[in-house]
Amino acid sequence: MNVADSQRLESAFEKLGLESTPRAADADVIVLNTCVVRQSAENKAYSYLQSLRPIKDRRPETVIGLMGCLVGVKNNGRLRERFPWVDVFAPPSDPKPVVDYIRNREGLAVEEIQVAERFAAQDNEIVLPLHQRGKLVAAHVPVVLGCSHACTFCIIPFRRGVERSRSVDEIMSEARSLVAQGVKDITLLGQIVDRYGHDLKSQISNLKFQNETPLVDVLRLMNDIEGLERVRFLTSHPNWMTDELIAAVAELPKVCEHIEVPVQAGHDEVLERMKRGYTAEDYGRLVERIRRKLPDGSIATDIIVGFPGETEAQFQATYELLAQLKLDVAHIAKYSVRPQTVAQRTLVDDVPPEEKERRRKAIEDLQERIAGEINARYLDQIVEVLVEDQHKGKWRGRTRTNKLVFFEDKRPQPEEWRGKLASVHITWTGPWSMQGVVTADTSVAST
Ligand code: SAH
Repeated sequence: MNVADSQRLESAFEKLGLESTPRAADADVIVLNTCVVRQSAENKAYSYLQSLRPIKDRRPETVIGLMGCLVGVKNNGRLRERFPWVDVFAPPSDPKPVVDYIRNREGLAVEEIQVAERFAAQDNEIVLPLHQRGKLVAAHVPVVLGCSHACTFCIIPFRRGVERSRSVDEIMSEARSLVAQGVKDITLLGQIVDRYGHDLKSQISNLKFQNETPLVDVLRLMNDIEGLERVRFLTSHPNWMTDELIAAVAELPKVCEHIEVPVQAGHDEVLERMKRGYTAEDYGRLVERIRRKLPDGSIATDIIVGFPGETEAQFQATYELLAQLKLDVAHIAKYSVRPQTVAQRTLVDDVPPEEKERRRKAIEDLQERIAGEINARYLDQIVEVLVEDQHKGKWRGRTRTNKLVFFEDKRPQPEEWRGKLASVHITWTGPWSMQGVVTADTSVAST
């Protein structure tokens, strides 16, 4: 989400006639976009902020902006006292305060320029920053902003505000303009992306979605965009993952067989304290439902270890669940106390740091084995890779199941692969990536 937010800021800056510099110290305008989902991310933001201070001291005319979840939707002014060298603050997903500040600031010679008129016609159409236009292969489109679920550990609802789905028109014109600029793979984003549109349904009584799960409407429209190869969405909440949605993933050719659906914990008492709204068994059944319709698909999950009151036995339940379900990816986090959350106000952070680390490592080791086993099945197979860029002399891209693949093109006349679909023969697999060579007949035609 932050990558998408930063991209929008960069586009807005280019419209003002600004361009990027490689070094922050040389810039006239520096904006720090921030995440505070865990204390470690927040600390990183503070240390970057500190590093901007000497720049401001040396050149007071430098504009310093602070954006994102450190500011939040209800910026209370305390940050201004704490970081007086910051000129302007902007909430997540909204670069407007920064853009307005620069537009109104005297001394900064800003000339609104006509960028790529073709794309700049409407507000909804995003213009990619110059260095990405025609080059960026995979892009993000936020479809739901904010979150109203209030899991007890999570700060996001307080910083990104209540759940707001964007209109279908806004999403589609943004997606179409990205595709016109060369994008081939679009990931629809939301904190609970499978809740897309439910808030609109309840606000606008005559609003008609064709499907019970409004996200399916968007997926169908996306599937029809000419020139787009792949569509993904993240992150889903188990309770909103309907059979209709899973069926749409199976049916729609461009929608990739990859589901990101966090379980967070494998013990029902922990899930209850987290207020996730499902049991471990419910989650297991969901995985079964997904696998029945998407037998070759992949599933990613998120795990929090060391949540308040998590006993060894409760942790073991999480471990066992993962060992049994064998998911493709697990993003593992140690519980971090976040201000304003229910957990911070009512529960004691009682799992010691060493123990959290031990649990994290145990799950990581387990997951490494599982992912290694799953990926080994790709060995000697031919997979379709959408190529994103080059890395250390190899082409880099992903399978439809979101597996990272590095490959070489050893043919006499190698091709420029960026943005194209390659048929890759897999010659090596590991838990986090695989390698291969492009097959003699690169039979996957790019549309
Ligand atoms: N809205 C999405 C993702 C939110 S943030 C969802 O609910 O799935 C991404 C991940 O960060 C979460 O899934 C969770 O595993 C982790 N996370 C959120 N708050 C956390 C906290 N206080 N401590 C540790 N991990 C946390």
